[in-house]
Amino acid sequence: MLDKRDDLAELRREFVLVCGPEGHVLEADRCAEELVELKGGDELHRRLVEGSTAKLNEFLRRAEHGPTGEWELALAVNGAPIAVRLRGMPRQDGRLLIVGSPVPPDLDRALTQVREGMQELAHLHRRSESQQAELRRQNGELKRLNHELEDSARGMMALHDEVEEKAESLMQMAEVKARLVSNVSHEFRTPLNSILGLTRILLDEEDGPLSEEQKKQLNFILRSATSLTELADDVLDLTKLESGKMTLRLSSFRVDDLFSALRGMFRPLATNPDVRLEFVPPPDDLPVVETDENKLAQILKNLVTNALKFTVKGHVRIVAEQRGTAVHFTVEDSGIGIPAGEIERIFDEFHRVSHPIQETVKGTGLGLPLCRKLADMLEGRIRVTSTEGQGSSFVLEIPMVHSEAQMMRELESEAENLDPSRSPILVVEDDRQTLFLYERYLRNSGFQVVPARTVAGAREALTRLRPSAIVLDVMLEGDSTWTFLQELKSEAATRDIPVLVVTVMNGEHQARALGADEFFVKPLNEEQLRRRLERLARVRGPVERVLVIDDDEVARYLVRKMLADDSLRIIEARTAAEGISAARRERPHVILLDFILQSETAFDVLDELKVDPQTRNIPVLIQTSKDLTDDERRRLAKDTASIIPKRNLSREVAMARIREALMQSEVGRPHMRKP
Ligand code: ADP
Repeated sequence: MLDKRDDLAELRREFVLVCGPEGHVLEADRCAEELVELKGGDELHRRLVEGSTAKLNEFLRRAEHGPTGEWELALAVNGAPIAVRLRGMPRQDGRLLIVGSPVPPDLDRALTQVREGMQELAHLHRRSESQQAELRRQNGELKRLNHELEDSARGMMALHDEVEEKAESLMQMAEVKARLVSNVSHEFRTPLNSILGLTRILLDEEDGPLSEEQKKQLNFILRSATSLTELADDVLDLTKLESGKMTLRLSSFRVDDLFSALRGMFRPLATNPDVRLEFVPPPDDLPVVETDENKLAQILKNLVTNALKFTVKGHVRIVAEQRGTAVHFTVEDSGIGIPAGEIERIFDEFHRVSHPIQETVKGTGLGLPLCRKLADMLEGRIRVTSTEGQGSSFVLEIPMVHSEAQMMRELESEAENLDPSRSPILVVEDDRQTLFLYERYLRNSGFQVVPARTVAGAREALTRLRPSAIVLDVMLEGDSTWTFLQELKSEAATRDIPVLVVTVMNGEHQARALGADEFFVKPLNEEQLRRRLERLARVRGPVERVLVIDDDEVARYLVRKMLADDSLRIIEARTAAEGISAARRERPHVILLDFILQSETAFDVLDELKVDPQTRNIPVLIQTSKDLTDDERRRLAKDTASIIPKRNLSREVAMARIREALMQSEVGRPHMRKP
């Protein structure tokens, strides 16, 4: 029965033995042989691992008397010890039934390992739990931080928006300020110009002699009005400098020429006999200076004016010296001096040192800040040394040749060869490329370009020849060019030479006011240049009837006075209605129309004039003391010949405008007359 094979036997881990009470194996099943190599006939004692005999004996003895429970014994199987668990019990025939199974050698260790593993796992589990808790905590913290970050990002964005808004409003404010300042200064100048104009007329004694007292009073008016105009100019200059709208006009000039101009200017102003004003003649070897002459003059004028103001006795001395590639202008006085702590502050806007003398002299505290900014433009600086009670010394150091002039000089080339069969056109242009361009435009025309790189060069050219026209191609903000244009239009010798102003900026306003006959914004093409030159060179001639429509008596009076010399008949009208009926009745050659009348604007008058075929073609010049908006300017441009700012009204300007208006209407008429 024990030998019977069964398939399950292979899976069994138990074996069965039948033994005698001394351990003699009588029967063994198949598993016994396979698992522990025991078979019938074997002696258990002989298979024991040494030292187990007593234990086996005891096991056998007990088995004789009843079931033993599990005993563990070590058997040698194939020479290797194997632990077996045995249970024994007596059979009825006195033999013993023993059931055994090998103890897996690694079970304990495995169990221990499993236990340890379990412990480890439990530990790990605990740890991972705590780690998870930590992670959860950190996650919470991260979320909180994230929220916080989001909040601060939102805060930052809000702040950023706010800052941007502030910056924008600051910029707007600065813009508004600049505009306000410039408007106010203009508003200031309008009545001041009337005052100055009228005072000069009175002082000329054209309308009868004046008493000495009256002359004195008028001179007071003149001086006050002039100093107010200067203030307005300073404010305007500073705003221009601050907004970067001031441009540099470079020219070559001699310092002694500048000095004599300044000397002439100051002679009537330096009225204190106790103060000697001395422009020290510069050394003969002082080279020609190439910089912005007007700005330099403006700085020196300011410094000398101050020196004269703050010096009661002694001298004011102006010295020029070469120092390497620089020229130093020193304005030294023996005046009240400046306390050490104030020296830097006098360059702050509106800062004036308190001193009894301040009560008696006029000033705004804008002169020195303006000087410093102008000196910056000339690539120079102003140094001051002063001892209170003894005097001050202001030193302006500027490069002899401004870096921009240096660059220009390198481009300069002399090309001049007059062709007697062509009319010379003086082109005043500091950009060589543009000069060449004009030369090319006019190469095959009846005109020949006479180039002048600077105003000084142009002046020099005018002493040699009389051009048919002048093309003044310049940055119109440049003061020396203004002076030159004004000079051209006021001097009898050059007054009639047509001037065509070309600029990169829109300075039509000023150019026209100073007498320019034509105005162009760059770039000017060949067609335009040739056509304009031909027309300018052709049209000249007197005008006859001028209708002035203005409700301001003073304005009408000024026009009448200004145009009195020419063979013109001035017709005056005070209102729009009066003006329109005078236009129909008198058929003037030109109408000078004030922009704002009592109850109407120029637009109302223009509309009326334009609907009537009798008055439609009469050129209208708008006069205004208001700074026109772009929109107004555009609307006016359609129907008017040009716009003349009142503050710049002079005989030359008026005549030039009138001539030009007539010229344009000559050109326009044939077309308009066509049925
Ligand atoms: P203003 O002369 O119109 O007051 P400035 O900016 O030209 O303004 O000068 C600022 C101040 O500097 C003056 O008010 C005066 O206190 C001081 N200052 C300038 N030049 C001199 C000088 N040559 N001597 C003494 N003080 C001077």
